[in-house]
Amino acid sequence: MLARPSTTETAFQMRDHVCPNGVRLRPMNPCVIVGGGFAGMVAARRLQQIGVRATVLEKGDVDGGLGNAVISGGLLHIAWEPPDSPADVKRERLLAETSGEIDDELAGALASQSGNIIPWLQAEGVEMRAKTEEPATRWTLWPFRVGTGRRLLPDLGPSKAMQRLYERFREWRGDLRMGAAAHSLHRLSGGWQVGFQTEAGEASLEAGTVLFADGGFQANQEMLSRYVGPNAGLCLLRASTTGTGDGLRMLLENGAEAVGLGRVYGHLVSINALESDELWPFPHLDELCMVGVVVTRHGDRVPVDTSAVGLVTRMARSEDPRGFAVVFDEEIWNGEPGRGKLGLPAPNPELMRRGAHLVSSDTISGLAQRLACKPDRLARAIAAHNTVRGACPVSRPPFHAARVIPGITFTMGGAKIGPDAAVRAPGGRAIPGLFAAGSTAGGIQGGPNGGYVGGLATAATFGYIAAESIAAYVQSAAKSARSRASPGQPDGG
Ligand SMILES: Cc1cc2nc3c(=O)[nH]c(=O)nc-3n(C[C@H](O)[C@H](O)[C@H](O)COP(=O)(O)OP(=O)(O)OC[C@H]3O[C@@H](n4cnc5c(N)ncnc54)[C@H](O)[C@@H]3O)c2cc1C
Repeated sequence: MLARPSTTETAFQMRDHVCPNGVRLRPMNPCVIVGGGFAGMVAARRLQQIGVRATVLEKGDVDGGLGNAVISGGLLHIAWEPPDSPADVKRERLLAETSGEIDDELAGALASQSGNIIPWLQAEGVEMRAKTEEPATRWTLWPFRVGTGRRLLPDLGPSKAMQRLYERFREWRGDLRMGAAAHSLHRLSGGWQVGFQTEAGEASLEAGTVLFADGGFQANQEMLSRYVGPNAGLCLLRASTTGTGDGLRMLLENGAEAVGLGRVYGHLVSINALESDELWPFPHLDELCMVGVVVTRHGDRVPVDTSAVGLVTRMARSEDPRGFAVVFDEEIWNGEPGRGKLGLPAPNPELMRRGAHLVSSDTISGLAQRLACKPDRLARAIAAHNTVRGACPVSRPPFHAARVIPGITFTMGGAKIGPDAAVRAPGGRAIPGLFAAGSTAGGIQGGPNGGYVGGLATAATFGYIAAESIAAYVQSAAKSARSRASPGQPDGG
């Protein structure tokens, strides 16, 4: 077999150039960004504006990348607050949503820096509009995306926003490597070597800093089993297939500390979504699960003592993520206010319209038969539910059930970072030259009640913070190199 061609680029192969705004980029490669998703491209563009050259490695071969950003709903919020809300309001919401689990310094950085994101994105030419009257939807990528599975919809807001960032990066002569999947990281004296694979073969880049922004490990079944639960790989991947945890793996191999790896963000969806993209990301069954009776394959009740997001993590960690069903009655499904009708689009009638199966019966034992579980266990589960104070009773026939599966949108944990987005080793020391943002970074999301604080705005904010920190790091490294080269000489600035 022929050996694959292999190339290594160093700083000296790159030429100096002047950007449209007059900023002169240094003739070196100070930064490699792994992942051209939302976090990575915000960082890449911000670095260009500051005058620091970065090379972006993007595994996808489509402008905008193939990550979660392009198939997202495009809603920018920080713990359900618009990013331009006062910092103290956002900080409080971050602490409340995560039940205090968010790293305090990260909460402070996110609350104070996220205010920059909206005007910055607007200046980049990214369009956002209010989707509803809810303040949390004030900044939604326009035109709004209501998607089906992973289908790329290039004319809708999330794809357009990403394309715009790619376009701007290219206009400023940014170095964007498409179809380049990073897989290895080695420490060098004064920097790092990133190995990656393209269609042309193996290659590597050397740089002073590396930003990992490759978007979580939700698409890696082996990592899900190791970090979330032994059978978490059986959950529905309610996300793009690119989040394979490469960045996290490389960071852990190089001494990074991991944080919060056991938690995931997602929604509860019909099990038929495993065969049909029509059934994800919407309609989800969160509301139904919160008001109905969630049962195991055997008909035993699963107490719902948390939010739907918390339930997704609990179900993903269970022995049997594909064994759950939600049971409800006619009142919940069709009554006033029929919970089946809540949500956009609502499960009733969207589930059936999109081909999902619902089982129904006039009796609980008939329903148990259709669910292939023991009637007495199902009856006990429903009776226990009906005694819970404030619960919607499940009592009016016909009774219905839908098989439900946790759909994982992204993994919440990741490499521990500081408020400067620098990757931390156990003990809190920053690992020189390594940074992480977006779903590669941990310590931001999670908590006993779910702890979802938004994906896009947090990714953009830490991408932006990472760029500022990388610029400062590169500048200080260059200064030390100059003083090493001419000891005793005053620094010329
Ligand atoms: C259906 C859906 C709806 C969502 N809706 C919302 C919403 O409305 N609001 C919200 O805040 N969040 C939403 N999210 C979450 C949001 O999309 C993510 O949190 C966000 O995109 C994370 O940004 P990121 O840059 O970390 O990752 P991504 O956007 O996934 O980008 C990572 C990039 O890295 C690339 N990559 C991966 N591995 C490698 C490698 N080895 N080498 C090179 N490149 C690599 C990928 O191709 C990808 O382009 C949604 C997600 C989904 C799936």
